[in-house]
Amino acid sequence: MAKIAVLERKCTGCGLCRASCPFDAIEMTDGRPEMNAACRVCGICVKSCPQQALVKLETRSASVDKTQWKDILVFAEVSGGRLHPVGLELIGKARELTAPLGFKVRAALVGSGVGTHAEELRHYGVSEIAVYDDPALGYFRADAYAGCLEDYIRAVKPCVVLVGATSLGRSLAPRLATRFRTGLTADCTKLELRENTDLVQIRPAFGGNIMAQIVTTNTRPQFATVRYKVMNPPARGEEADGVILPRKLPKSVGESKASCVGVTPLPPKKSISDAEILVVGGRGLQKEGDLAMIHTLAALLGGDWAVSRPLVEKGWATNERQIGLSGRTVRPKLIITCGVSGAIQFASCMKDSERIVAINSDRNAPIFDVAHVAIVDDLYKVVPELIEKLKEGRT
Ligand SMILES: Cc1cc2nc3c(=O)[nH]c(=O)nc-3n(C[C@H](O)[C@H](O)[C@H](O)COP(=O)(O)OP(=O)(O)OC[C@H]3O[C@@H](n4cnc5c(N)ncnc54)[C@H](O)[C@@H]3O)c2cc1C
Repeated sequence: MAKIAVLERKCTGCGLCRASCPFDAIEMTDGRPEMNAACRVCGICVKSCPQQALVKLETRSASVDKTQWKDILVFAEVSGGRLHPVGLELIGKARELTAPLGFKVRAALVGSGVGTHAEELRHYGVSEIAVYDDPALGYFRADAYAGCLEDYIRAVKPCVVLVGATSLGRSLAPRLATRFRTGLTADCTKLELRENTDLVQIRPAFGGNIMAQIVTTNTRPQFATVRYKVMNPPARGEEADGVILPRKLPKSVGESKASCVGVTPLPPKKSISDAEILVVGGRGLQKEGDLAMIHTLAALLGGDWAVSRPLVEKGWATNERQIGLSGRTVRPKLIITCGVSGAIQFASCMKDSERIVAINSDRNAPIFDVAHVAIVDDLYKVVPELIEKLKEGRT
């Protein structure tokens, strides 16, 4: 923790510090500067003070004994009675990470009637599956779910906790990280585990222009969320191993401040992340009506359609159909991009698709760096031809 302290005997109340602060975080009270909640402790005010009346104080927190924290815990989310596939993807990653260190992979299930999923998890190489199964956990209440996971984490001390970056996971993981006063990195795209159990959490930062490597060096556990379809699920094994460990509900669940007064389920929606075939329209499309040929091509291929962000900004499609950093990550068997340049914020979220066909009139478009098949041509010529050929093939 760091903070800015004011040396009253040196301060003349000139206000230069206030003027220098880029965050508007200094207020003058009785002629003396006071830092408000916006202070980022950047230290610019310290440098601006001609009297050297401001100092940056840093307190070094004691480092945790890392040897006490082993294994990786995966939160296996169950939503709508279904084991969310992101949990299996995280188990796959956890197995890769733990193998060199000889650590175990553990999983935790929280909910009502979730016990049946524990049996399924035994086929994925998990050593222990902790189960918090109780009608009181029937609906997601962040504090109650966090209480269960906190209970298990305190019992087994995993060095890493992986959570899917779903709506539920995004609510749960920060609460847990706060309870352990430790670090959380959201939306990791790559994870590596050092010998000293520091997790290198890699994710795009600054609008996707750099890949940041984030490490939590002094605290444990290390929390990371990963989006669906970013990691590979392991193959389901024939043999079931691993121990199912029913856990008693911690007292805190009964003390939850939230209660559920009713639930209105939304009609089930298809997600572009689940599509095996995707046809994507980009800004190369000149008008909204031209999206019709993207829909037609997708339908003829038995797939779904998606867009790049500019089309969402124009109001031609909803965000649910957007591929990219601020949209969805996809990994279909086949993706055909039409008039998409392949900016990093787009390409980083589809580059792992099995087969990428890109149609773009600019041979230097970055989409061709990730494409397996490059069609350098006018989409208004190529897409109708593809549609024609597919229709011919049907008759
Ligand atoms: C923080 C941040 C987050 C972002 N998140 C996302 C995101 O989630 N998803 C996303 O998509 N973008 C995102 N962006 C925006 C991204 O940087 C790009 O601006 C965007 O992806 C460009 O979309 P595009 O490829 O459709 O358009 P453009 O870059 O304008 O490319 C259009 C392409 O169409 C080609 N073309 C034009 N006419 C034709 C034709 N007749 N036939 C064939 N080709 C043609 C052109 O050669 C060009 O390559 C984000 C940006 C930031 C800063």
